[in-house]
This record gives sequence, C-alpha cells and structure tokens, in this order.
Amino acid sequence: MRYYDKLIFELSKKGRTGFSLPCNEYGRHVSELPSELKRSSSPELPEVSEVDVVRHYTNLSQMNFGVDTGFYPLGSCTMKYNPKINEEIAAMSGFSSLHPLQPACTVQGALEVYEAMDKALSALTGMAAFTLNPCAGAHGELTGLMIMRQYHISRGDFGRTKVIVPDSAHGTNPASAAVCGLEVVVVKSNADGRIDLADLKPLLDDSVAGMMMTNPNTLGLFETEIIRIAEMVHAAGGLLYYDGANMNPLLGKVRPGDMGFDILHLNLHKTFSTPHGGGGPGAGPVGVSEALRDLLPVPKVVREGSALKVVGRAGSGDETPLSAGEVSAFLGNFGIILRAYAYILMLGKENVRMVGPLSVLNANYVKECLKDSYKLPMEGVCKHEFVFDGLIDDGASKAADGQGATTLDVAKRLLDFGFHAPTIYFPLLFHQALMIEPTETESKETLDAFIDVMHRIAAEAAENPAVLREAPHGTPISRPDETTAARKPILKWNG
Ligand SMILES: *Cc1c(COP(=O)(O)O)cnc(C)c1O
Repeated sequence: MRYYDKLIFELSKKGRTGFSLPCNEYGRHVSELPSELKRSSSPELPEVSEVDVVRHYTNLSQMNFGVDTGFYPLGSCTMKYNPKINEEIAAMSGFSSLHPLQPACTVQGALEVYEAMDKALSALTGMAAFTLNPCAGAHGELTGLMIMRQYHISRGDFGRTKVIVPDSAHGTNPASAAVCGLEVVVVKSNADGRIDLADLKPLLDDSVAGMMMTNPNTLGLFETEIIRIAEMVHAAGGLLYYDGANMNPLLGKVRPGDMGFDILHLNLHKTFSTPHGGGGPGAGPVGVSEALRDLLPVPKVVREGSALKVVGRAGSGDETPLSAGEVSAFLGNFGIILRAYAYILMLGKENVRMVGPLSVLNANYVKECLKDSYKLPMEGVCKHEFVFDGLIDDGASKAADGQGATTLDVAKRLLDFGFHAPTIYFPLLFHQALMIEPTETESKETLDAFIDVMHRIAAEAAENPAVLREAPHGTPISRPDETTAARKPILKWNG
C-alpha cells in the first residue's frame, strides 16, 4: 500500500491543522448558534495539514474509473465525454446561487432555460411538450406510466391495467410498470432480435394500457416494423411509450414522435452528455403528444406574455385538474438541465445530426474488427451499440482444469489495460453477453487501442485462461463480492 492510500483518520496527528485566514471584522461572518443547539464537545475529526488533505482526496479520486480517466464503452449507458463548458456554465453564480423558493420574477433567466429546453427536446423528438422534473431515467418511466394511466382514467376507461414490455427491455421498464401498479406482460423477440408481431397480436386487447419500447432496441437493432406496431397498439386503444434513455443513434435524424410514440423519456445523463454514474444526480425529462399535454406533472413553467411563471406548486391553489401530479421537489435537477442545454447549444443544429452517424460508425467499426475473436449472435449493421456472446475460444480445451475464461474474466482483464469494461450479462437473451457502446466522442486511435487490447485478451484466453480468471492484477481492489459491496458497504471508519 502506498502511504497516501491510508484513510484520512490514519494520517491524523494531534494539533495539526490547515491554513485559514484570521477572522477579523473583514473576515467571514459566522452567525452564532443558540447555545441549546451547540454540541457540548468537539467532534472527533482527523487533524491534518492542507497538503495531507489534498493528497488524500486526490489519491482517492484516482482509485476510481471515470470517463475523464479512460475509455468507458458501457453498453446501454452512453458514457460519452462530459464537455467542461457545461460545468463552467452550471457554476455561474447567476445559476448556482438560486433558491427554488425565490419569487418567479427573480429567476426569469433560469425559467427561460427550462422553457427553451422543453422546446429543444420537443423539436428533437417530435413531441408536443416536456416536463423536465423527473430526476432519472427510471423516474421518467414512472412519470410516463402515471400519465398513461391518468389518460385512460380521465376518459372513464378503468379496465386498462396491463403494460406490454419486450423480453429484450431494460430492467427498469418492467420495474417501473410494477411500481406504477400496472401488470407486466412480456412480448417475445423473433430470431433476428426484433419484436415478434405474431406474439404481440394476441396480447392486444382492451385490458392493455400501453406498450413500452426502445428503438433501436437493447440489442442495438432498429425495430423496422415500428409503424405497424404503433398502428396495432393504437387500434387496441393503448398508448405507445418510448424508452429514449439512449437516443444517441437517432439524434437529429429520426424522431420517436414521427414513429407514432405518445410518451417518452430521455436520459440527459446519457444522450445529452451530463455526468453519469455514482447514483446521480440525473434527469429523465418526459415528452408527450399534443393530446396528453394537460396530463404532464406539476409544477410547470408557463409563459404569460413576456413573463414566465411556475404553476401548480404544492399549496399554490392553481387549478391543474388533469395533471398526473407532483413527481419531484420543484422543477427537477436544474443544474443538470442547464448542462444538457449548454451541450445542445454547443452542438447546434448541424452538429447534432452528426452524433447519431458517428456513434453508429464507431460501434460498427469495433464490432467488425472484433468479430473474429468474439461470438457475434446478430450479424448485420447495428446502431450505436452491439452485443457479443462471449469468446469464440475461451481456452477451456487447453486449461488443466478444463475451465475457460468467461465474459466476467474478459471484463476484469480490461481494467489491467486502463479500459473500463463493457456492460456484461445484459441483455439476458445471451449467457455471456458483452455489450459494447463506444459513443461518438472517441477517436479512431482510442478505438484501435481498445480493439488491440480485446484481441490480446482473446489470445490470452485461448492460451492460458487462468491469467484472465485472476485479473485484474493492477487495481487497488481486485474482485470484491459485488453483492455484499453494494448491499453492505462499510462507509464508516472504525479505527
Ligand atoms: C439507463 C437506462 C434506463 C434507466 O435510467 P436511469 O437513469 O439509470 O434510471 C432505462 N432504459 C434504458 C434503455 C437505459 O439504458
């Protein structure tokens, strides 16, 4: 262990402190707490110098993997580069010092960003209006399904309790439907990885509230029968929901609204370049067709002449009888909405059209270069991501114990070469799924370096799979018990 890998409590030395300015009449104003609120003794905090603190936290940050430290081809998660101009704009004090309870007349600029983002997303998706309030993709799904349920109830149609979800769907789709109190019915994929219309047809009756879909689907394949599917769902009285977490391949090219979708969510923290991972903050705006506009959640930003106001806040007394209700505190994660808006403006109308083609080109390039070493279950052109089903030669025939290298082992070995692993064991349609999404922000040189390493790992597996099974060899932690690490993390120092 390196010296500065120690915990900050272990670096502590009695009486050591950081540097601070003397507090005089020009110094910081510290308001006096009432004595009954003050603690009776000092907390046990580490006593360290400034340089120790800086080294400790800088080291800690280096133990993690981020899109700023290396290539991160996580399928279905769009780990694209987060442009630093987004951060600069979000840090401007005119935005960062706002309080959500400020009177609307003092936050007109921020409300204008909200309104402009609603318009930009509507234009990009072909929807009529958006709420930017939901704080994650799954939160957007729940909001969208609440709107779907509210639509049927508002028409006096109380028997629609089922939601159709494809077997290739992201796990949050059935989970959100269940949380919304709807019953999930699964529709199968056919042999070429797309929705099986023959399987769909008998599921469509007057108990169906709607159907959730992703297009391109989770295998990175475009649902070519989408117009037909929209007609079938609508003819049965249902609504069509678009999971637009990964809009990347379509951005500026094809619009879900034009395909017949009624409701959708987007992930600003995937497609629109805002930071992603570590549990948030995120944003999952929900867009709807004209017929569903009044069902959007509150509060909403509404224009009255040249002024913008916030309508429907709890306790405001505003009349919004059809609204699906409140889904988050205030107007969502404004700092994230702002970053994503900066990204859209920075790209502009012309460049936004390049995101899709470049992400598709990058994915196909990696796929074609690697399919001699990894099993490709779905041939043909993919969209922005694709799925391998493990190694062609996993080395089992040469290993003394007869055990070959798995997808998990490939993923772990990649870390030794400074690349983050792709998504593994998802989608569930394959046993050794390895789902790769390079995104449009990577250069050909980076992709070539990744391809070289993937070939090298495949060669290692074929020769001596044990090297992979013990990987990673160079990270601070090698193979934690992932379930325990997630469910029972130790977050407290027990020195
Ligand atoms: C990431 C993702 C989601 C969920 O988004 P969160 O922000 O993680 O809740 C939903 N659907 C698809 C297809 C996704 O990739």
